[in-house]
Amino acid sequence: MGRLVMKFGGTSVANIDRIRNVARHVKREVDAGHDVAVVVSAMAGKTNELVEWCRDASPLHDAREYDAVVASGEQVTSGLLAIVLQGMGIQARSWQGWQIPILTSDAHASARILGIDGTEISARFKDRKEVAVISGFQGINPQTSRITTLGRGGSDTSAVAIAAAIRADRCDIYTDVDGVYTTDPRVVPKARRLDKIAFEDMLELASLGAKVLQVRSVELGMVHNMPVFVRSSFDKPEDIDPHGTPPGTLICSEEEIMESHVVTGIAFSKDEAQISLRQIEDKPGVAAAIFGPLADANINVDMIVQNVSEDGKTTDLTFTVPASDYNRARDTITSSKAKIGYARLDSATDVSKVSVIGSGMRSHAGVAAKAFKALSERNINIRAITTSEIKFSVLIDAAYTELAVRTLHTLYGLDQA
Ligand code: ADP
Ligand code: ASP
Ligand code: MG
Repeated sequence: MGRLVMKFGGTSVANIDRIRNVARHVKREVDAGHDVAVVVSAMAGKTNELVEWCRDASPLHDAREYDAVVASGEQVTSGLLAIVLQGMGIQARSWQGWQIPILTSDAHASARILGIDGTEISARFKDRKEVAVISGFQGINPQTSRITTLGRGGSDTSAVAIAAAIRADRCDIYTDVDGVYTTDPRVVPKARRLDKIAFEDMLELASLGAKVLQVRSVELGMVHNMPVFVRSSFDKPEDIDPHGTPPGTLICSEEEIMESHVVTGIAFSKDEAQISLRQIEDKPGVAAAIFGPLADANINVDMIVQNVSEDGKTTDLTFTVPASDYNRARDTITSSKAKIGYARLDSATDVSKVSVIGSGMRSHAGVAAKAFKALSERNINIRAITTSEIKFSVLIDAAYTELAVRTLHTLYGLDQA
């Protein structure tokens, strides 16, 4: 007997039939004798619709009210799943973020979890074997008592945080794919499912664009050393052997991984925009004049590339920002033009970032060089490059994203046999 968190994403609860299927998965674990807390997302497409309604109502809306609106999707699914479970004779109760409570910061639309009180949920496991059905994605700020949300994909984070709070043995993330693959299996059919992946590698994959898990959920898993298992909700509950190991990917600490490859996986992000400032003065303080105002405007700058000046007077500087922040970034820079001092601002929004990830890169030289050659043979132009210990990224024209990902996937021997 153990304690489990089971999280179901949007496609897994897309309609009442799917919710019934989820309930059968929950029943399977309850019947096996486990204490179960379930975390649910909103029905597929619902959060997008709610976000769109807010924009329609007013493009410049109050973030507190945005959260009040978008958190409602999860409220519906938690209630529905509790109803279905009760109909199957299972004790179940729904919980909203504020009822538990899941305390968060007041950064509306991208709040961070500060703490979760798991006492009541744990007590109910003991007293009445009651399944807790918890709305993912939402919490409450203790100072303002207002509903908050954790950023898109945030139910993953709710699930791992709850698993840590109730000291679960494992957090199962049920989704529409049967695990974490070497790259998005919808883009590369030859992608291979990984049996295990280290938290560190998963953190890079997620933060560089693989949306199978929200980045913060991987961070929490790592901090609490909570094993996270990604698996499919589409497997029929009846077909699952209660004593076997179902298909899926375990995200765990590096020591638990026997076999390690130089490259673990490839991620990509089309949500990129490039800004290049031409002929900025090559003197101390220029970078601060550019990136200070961007930071003040809460714009996340990602890749930064600056040339070494040829004449000692001026140089070029290129950086990327999320495409959704492009207009604001551009306005921020142009309004500081006099202070920064540059001749021209060039930009491109049809760019994407392709990243190769692997903790094995630490001890191998020449991994990136191979990629540059392979991309050039495909005539793919690299606009910017960044590297770190366990990954490198290239910025390319968005039209070549799929080709680049497939080329690199084959190059590093990741294709399925
Ligand atoms: P959910 O609604 O269950 O949270 P998401 O849509 O957020 O599901 O995440 C699952 C999706 O992540 C998959 O359908 C897949 O297309 C995408 N994905 C991107 N990269 C990967 C990867 N490396 N491995 C598995 N899935 C990936
Ligand atoms: N429903 C939220 C979203 O679509 C949270 C989640 O699904 O994880 O972003
Ligand atoms: Mg998700």
